[in-house]
Amino acid sequence: FRLARRTICSFSKRIQRGMHMKRRDFLGRAGAGALIGGGMLAGCSQSDAPGPAGSTAPAAAAKTIHWKMVTTWPKNFPGLGTGANNLARLIGELSGGRLQVKVFGAGELVPAMQVFDAVSQGTAELGHGAAYYWKGKTPTAQFFAAVPFGLTAQEMNAWLYHGGGLELWREVYEPFGLVPAAAGNSGVQMAGWFNREINELADLQGLKMRIPGLGGEVLQRAGGTPVQMPGGEIFTSLQSGAIDATEWVGPYNDLAFGLHKAAKYYYYPGWHEPGTTLEGLVNRAALERLPADLQSIVMNACRVVNEDMLAEYTARNKDALQTLVNEHQVDVRRLPEAVLARLRTLSEEAVAEIGGSDTLSGKVFDSFSRFRSQVEAWQDISERAYLNVRGAGA
Ligand code: CA
Repeated sequence: FRLARRTICSFSKRIQRGMHMKRRDFLGRAGAGALIGGGMLAGCSQSDAPGPAGSTAPAAAAKTIHWKMVTTWPKNFPGLGTGANNLARLIGELSGGRLQVKVFGAGELVPAMQVFDAVSQGTAELGHGAAYYWKGKTPTAQFFAAVPFGLTAQEMNAWLYHGGGLELWREVYEPFGLVPAAAGNSGVQMAGWFNREINELADLQGLKMRIPGLGGEVLQRAGGTPVQMPGGEIFTSLQSGAIDATEWVGPYNDLAFGLHKAAKYYYYPGWHEPGTTLEGLVNRAALERLPADLQSIVMNACRVVNEDMLAEYTARNKDALQTLVNEHQVDVRRLPEAVLARLRTLSEEAVAEIGGSDTLSGKVFDSFSRFRSQVEAWQDISERAYLNVRGAGA
């Protein structure tokens, strides 16, 4: 899908005229709307009208543009770091080499937790991370990564692309000079690794667990002690007993960390991260300096990576789960209903509090909550019903 500059402008002009776009068009309606909102048409002129077949857009002769991408992941970290690499590679390929992106792992150009600031200030033009890391900038950011008992990957994409979510995300990041994009998804995560059996609510009392973000907030309300620590310190802390439990991602990443060697029980489901969206962060000024076709390539490369990462996680998680169970005899357990029910109640309270923090947060909370309650009825008779009936025959 090498998109010629004039094709994009033609797309945009058609949408401006209110023409209906078919779903098979590469740009979804929301994506195309975003292009217009992002000043895509600024680069279009009369000369962009479709010319004779094979004519070359003037921009093709333009010199190479170099961008830096900072990430919150260790360089080449499976799934996440490699997802960032894929984003850079795709942008290079789709632009025919006109826009080259160099990837910096956490700590190479800036520390992991400074990615947001670095892209906001233009130190790097592009970033790859997860929105819940930026709750100190704006608590509302957490809605665009993972919400306990929130949306699955499929539902997140539906909300973002076709339910008004992406427009809200752009509004939340607008004051920071940033344009966000969904750029990866882990799917449902695991509840985590425990060295203590969880049979009832009382077992959460005093539980020292590495669990970031809103999940940690909920654990605290349930009587546990959430601990924040970067991925690299988890294994040693769990093995030494400094923490009783940890969540990380799922079988694919957890196996790579060797967490099965440091804990007895592997609990599911990941109530706290039901479909974590990773993000592409783009410096708005840098984006708007690009010709229209390159702007489209950057945003749509994020969309490709968003889909590809979920596919990769789904495929690798199933393999890694088999390895954990069959080769390492891992004890995989479901959290008890009563524990999940309590965590669900506490999650609703914690999430509603963020929604009450200011007007924009309220708007995001309302949109997210409405989407979740409305999609439930459809999921009941589609995904959930189908998976239940398929599983019954297995
Ligand atoms: Ca996690």
